[in-house]
Amino acid sequence: MIVSQHVLPVFLGLLGLVLGSAVSALAYRLPLGISWIRGRSACPSCGTQLTARDLVPLVSFALARGRCRHCGAPVRWRYPLTELISAAWLVLLHLHVGLGWAYPLLVLWGLMLVTLMWIDLDHQLLPDALTFPGTLIGIAAALQWPGGARHALLGVAVGSGILWLLAWSYWKLRRVEGMGGGDIKLAAMFGAVLGWQQSLLTLFLAAAAGSVWGAVLMVRGRGDRRTALPFGTLLAPAAMVAFLWGNDLLWTYWSLFTRR
Ligand SMILES: [Zn+2]
Repeated sequence: MIVSQHVLPVFLGLLGLVLGSAVSALAYRLPLGISWIRGRSACPSCGTQLTARDLVPLVSFALARGRCRHCGAPVRWRYPLTELISAAWLVLLHLHVGLGWAYPLLVLWGLMLVTLMWIDLDHQLLPDALTFPGTLIGIAAALQWPGGARHALLGVAVGSGILWLLAWSYWKLRRVEGMGGGDIKLAAMFGAVLGWQQSLLTLFLAAAAGSVWGAVLMVRGRGDRRTALPFGTLLAPAAMVAFLWGNDLLWTYWSLFTRR
């Protein structure tokens, strides 16, 4: 049954591409208060309403060579990228957890993280409208596993606790807000699913990526040590990486110290 083995991942990948374009629309519309469901997407440059022909994931982008068919303005690379990330998430997640009840919940959880990643990059904002339901969905997913309640509780406590502590000490030291409350709520959303070890890994990965990003900005002369990076933009994909490959990463890291 070679055919049926490949049909499911292909189907999930295609579904992921379609859901990915919905993620792009949500990330664009939610912070602007535009209805997600009603109204067609339009080209941000010329305002021409996009038709079904413009909205086929990846294909439209490739056929129009990354430009608007009407005015020729370049289409942002993040649209096809978001579609690819979403497709990869649906396929990899299926390999990781199978097709139980946790699957649709975690599909939603991951796609909401991708949405939050872009919204934080554009607006330095992590809307409660996503992080609150995201946390509930994360807890519901964790409850599908044995010991899930404890796993989720510890994950939320450690993830949000550390960020809250950092925000609090930063406030005490400098009297400026270094870390937003949005990051703390985002940590609850990924902590519920990841548990405490992988929440720590997520914070570590995001901080490491942030240092590299900050160094690049400084080298290019586009920021200094106090330039605020949107931490949520790093945390969200770090949480997805930690979920898929966290155990391997932690194991590799651990064996670096134990193998002589
Ligand atoms: Zn246009």
